[in-house]
Amino acid sequence: MKNPLFIVIFCTFSLLGNSQVSIDYYLPENITYNTSIPAPKQFFGHEIGEWHLTHDKLYYYMLELAKVSERAIWEEYAKSYENRPLGHLIISSPENIKNIEQLRQQHLLLCDPSKSAGVDITDMPVFIKLGYGIHGNESSAQNASVLVAWYLTAGEGKEIDELLQNAVILIDPSLNPDGMQRHTTWVNSTRSLNNNSDPSSWEFSETWPGGRTNHYWFDLNRDYLLLQHPETVGRVAAFHKWKPNINTDHHETGANETFFFQPGIPSRNNPLTPAKNYELTAEIGKYHEKYLNAIGSFYYTEESFDDFYVGKGSSYPDIFGSVGILFEQAGVKGHLRETTRGLLSFPFAIRNHVTVSLSTLEAGLKMKEKLLGNQRDFYKDALNQADKYPVKGFIFTEPTDNGRVSEFIKILQKHQIKVYRTNRDLVRDGIQYKASESFIVPLKQSSHLFIRSLFEPVKIFTDSTFYDISTWVLPMSFNIRYSGINLAKEMEGLTGQEVTDPVREGKLVSPDNPYAFIFEWSEYFAPKALFALQDAGIITRVSAERFVFDNPDLKKEFSFGTIVVPVSGQPVSPDELQETMKKLAEDCGIVIYGVKTGLTPGGIDLGSNRIMPLDKPSVAMVVGAGANSGDAGEIWHMLDTRFKIPVTMITAQGFGSADLDRYNVIIITGSPDLNNPVMENIRAWNRRGGTLIGFENGNNWLQRNKFAEIEFVPSVTNKKDSGVYANRSMDNQVQQIPGSIFEARLDLSHPLCYGYTRDLLPVFKSTSSAAKKNGNIYNNPVVYTKDPLLSGYCTKENIERIRGTAVASVHENRVISIYDNTNFRAIWYGTNKIFLNAIFFGQVVR
Ligand SMILES: [Zn+2]
Repeated sequence: MKNPLFIVIFCTFSLLGNSQVSIDYYLPENITYNTSIPAPKQFFGHEIGEWHLTHDKLYYYMLELAKVSERAIWEEYAKSYENRPLGHLIISSPENIKNIEQLRQQHLLLCDPSKSAGVDITDMPVFIKLGYGIHGNESSAQNASVLVAWYLTAGEGKEIDELLQNAVILIDPSLNPDGMQRHTTWVNSTRSLNNNSDPSSWEFSETWPGGRTNHYWFDLNRDYLLLQHPETVGRVAAFHKWKPNINTDHHETGANETFFFQPGIPSRNNPLTPAKNYELTAEIGKYHEKYLNAIGSFYYTEESFDDFYVGKGSSYPDIFGSVGILFEQAGVKGHLRETTRGLLSFPFAIRNHVTVSLSTLEAGLKMKEKLLGNQRDFYKDALNQADKYPVKGFIFTEPTDNGRVSEFIKILQKHQIKVYRTNRDLVRDGIQYKASESFIVPLKQSSHLFIRSLFEPVKIFTDSTFYDISTWVLPMSFNIRYSGINLAKEMEGLTGQEVTDPVREGKLVSPDNPYAFIFEWSEYFAPKALFALQDAGIITRVSAERFVFDNPDLKKEFSFGTIVVPVSGQPVSPDELQETMKKLAEDCGIVIYGVKTGLTPGGIDLGSNRIMPLDKPSVAMVVGAGANSGDAGEIWHMLDTRFKIPVTMITAQGFGSADLDRYNVIIITGSPDLNNPVMENIRAWNRRGGTLIGFENGNNWLQRNKFAEIEFVPSVTNKKDSGVYANRSMDNQVQQIPGSIFEARLDLSHPLCYGYTRDLLPVFKSTSSAAKKNGNIYNNPVVYTKDPLLSGYCTKENIERIRGTAVASVHENRVISIYDNTNFRAIWYGTNKIFLNAIFFGQVVR
């Protein structure tokens, strides 16, 4: 605090924290405002920064601006899970707003190399998107959007007019409305009238799960590539609709930091992102420097955060010819807070975000032709690069699972990647690609770089530290087999019709008056069908053996895990059952077969004891303090949105009074604070036949509390530590596994592996912990192979350590350990089934 500037600034913080802030504090001096546009204080009844705006207030203000201002329109692009609208307040000059569709069409021509050469970029606006607060509890971001929107719609003068004539500005005021609503409710309801800046105050510690994430507790700033949530699906569609030249992403970081703006750490740039992009980012940074210097705010660049993972708000645009920029403001998470740098106020945090919003706009205006030119060049280069690149396309197939292939293709298409059926059979890498069952993604298309980032494994890295995961090979997460096609000649005649319709329709294939219905468990959505039947009280069974039908109606082998539904003895009539089966087949996109007889020519018959009766799973999961909200949210989301399976979420405290016999499955994530009597109840329930599932770190809890004997492999020490003090944090991270893909071998006959058709499976591992196999050799159905690394960062020592360890084991009394995250970010469709099998078939493991 030697710097006198610091002292002045910190005194100012303190005053502002006591709610004396005025709007002049945030915005440029000497601006007059159109009084017919309501200022924030007029609309909300308080100045920005005095309270945390809830999402509804923020949204209605944006609508009001769109209603009263000729410069603005509101365009909704999605609704959150909790039905809150997401959209852009689109701001430009009144004339541009009248011609907005024409301007958009003209702008998109820059992304089409066959037309872009003829476009005059000197005579068109630049498109800039300002995006605020994807982490719902980073409120200074969303609150800043209001001030920027008011400034642009109400501000008067030559400078603003010039900006609006030359720019179309899309304000996305709250990227995660549900999380924002949770956080703001918390922080407004726990504050005192007189600000209490004590960092231990309740105000600064939201209750579990906090407002960072969306309704199902997902970090939406990882979903741009994965597209598993409505907020992102809408947002990415809107990105491609507008293709803004600059996309800002306003966040908060730790309370003791200053302010970060990109460029990030150069050694951790994604190698596929064009170098030009980083140059433009640095040039735009000069404007932030100028603006932040003017208000005396401290900042840093290049030291932290990276754009390696291209599925974030600031990195996704980079691989589509736009420039994404991350901002991180020290977070107050309340109204006024003591930090190691002095008092930090909410208005101060908001002002920094307003300031860099305005510096971004000036950069956009001054760099307009450079940015538009960059966009045009990017798409032209994409096709040139495709011509030079040795791989010409990726072919893929997964004939036994319509669900996974369909969902995989849908994601590609949402990224504007074109997918085609294939015209002829092909064998590549020992894989049979039958024309009727295979698809191809040619690399010569505008998303060339993005396709490569989705399909190509990476094992060599220039840096051993990652802000996020180190790999995201999409076909691996779907367990879909694929190959690169290396010769242009081989592509000739291979590409058939573009996929526009559903890949395959579900159907019932049955003679009249069948004796039983059967369906295969290899289909991703088979669990949805099974649960719906069980929920309707229909008797269902699962086969522990293979069997064959061979008659004119049906020639087919059925594998382990096939579901068998007898027609007789059901609570519904045969006709009603047939109707239910037909509906379920269509709804789940699966094929259900009716058969005339129980006698099979190969394998067991349908009346065999090896076709075992199933109980409907009734699932409880521990949530609340101690549980892992990420793991729990992924489980809740999967069961609820994809399979319509209810999961009762109970806090550690709630378990004290819950009737455990209502459930036959209990899931433990993290380290919940269950007391001894509750643990004894769970133990007794487990002995009575309940399935207890430990998920990821939940297994440490199972081990500690003696629910299972688990031996973890000690971590490896780094042999190449530099011994240099300044490098210690980097050295510490060398042996981390930041999220990499490994190969596991399956025992296809084990109930945890029912539905898998190949005995090798890519598994995602985002923790360096590893567990030894269970002593019972029959109960380690999923084990890492000898040479397991498929893609991503992992040291030799760790590869050695992981080989042969368990991904999943079954212990005594139906305690099941799933050590790695089979449900990671809702994108690991390939390993979800191991988890679902634990829920459905834990009961039949002997
Ligand atoms: Zn954030």
